[in-house]
Amino acid sequence: MCPGGYALTMTHERIPERWQRRRILWPAIAIATVAGCSSVPGTGRQRLNFIPSGQMSRLGAETFDDLMSSKTIIDRGPAAASVNRIGQRVIASARELYPSGGLPADWEIVLIEDDTPNAFALPGGRIGVHSGMVDLAGGEDALAIVIGHEVGHVLAEHSAERMSHGLLIVGGLTIGTVAFEDEDDETRAMVIGALGAGATLGIMLPYSRLHESEADELGLMIAANAGYNPREAISLWQRMEREGGGRLEFLSTHPVPQTRINDFQKIMPQAVRLYERSRYRGARSGQ
Ligand SMILES: [Zn+2]
Repeated sequence: MCPGGYALTMTHERIPERWQRRRILWPAIAIATVAGCSSVPGTGRQRLNFIPSGQMSRLGAETFDDLMSSKTIIDRGPAAASVNRIGQRVIASARELYPSGGLPADWEIVLIEDDTPNAFALPGGRIGVHSGMVDLAGGEDALAIVIGHEVGHVLAEHSAERMSHGLLIVGGLTIGTVAFEDEDDETRAMVIGALGAGATLGIMLPYSRLHESEADELGLMIAANAGYNPREAISLWQRMEREGGGRLEFLSTHPVPQTRINDFQKIMPQAVRLYERSRYRGARSGQ
């Protein structure tokens, strides 16, 4: 496993002897694991990612096109102009802060007609912001923090990391299935079910929370460096909690708002320093 990274719950030592019959698969997984270690720009966290970025980018583009075919994109008016302007500045800021971060060359940031306060990012630099999120943000500073958070996901290549872990879990399940081929169906189903559930609850969910916290941190620094007031993050999340409650997709697998607010407060002095020396300050639209 990557040093300092999450360990899969199914390590080689924990696998019973009879499960290890297909030994040939384990070295392949071990090699993929070691070769795929790298660190996240900005936070330095060790992560696992063995999927080439070109492949992730293609997947992101296909998913985005699929998604957009059923959505209405708002491409004119003040809100669309605002999303576009903030997006450009936030991306320029991310490049400035993390020059070796491997950020995509081209980005697509769209405003989508949807009252749900939500935003999402796909690999390769595709970001969607719902009109409901623009309303909830209520101003450019908070909106920049939301867009910064999405850029943070792309910068940290969270999708590729989750997919890498998913592939390892699938590999583990395949081995489990093979090893249990001479057991009765009921035992097999129980064991495979337990493995699958363990894989989901033990690895994927904490990862999504970790990714949200990491995107929060990266996004706050990126927005602050772009000249947007990072202190707005606190009131944004207070509004989220008040107005969104449990129905927000943005919150579903995420740290609870109070945890996020506490985390923001810890890194706020650093973000404020970036904000105060931002070369973009004073160049804000309408100011
Ligand atoms: Zn997120």
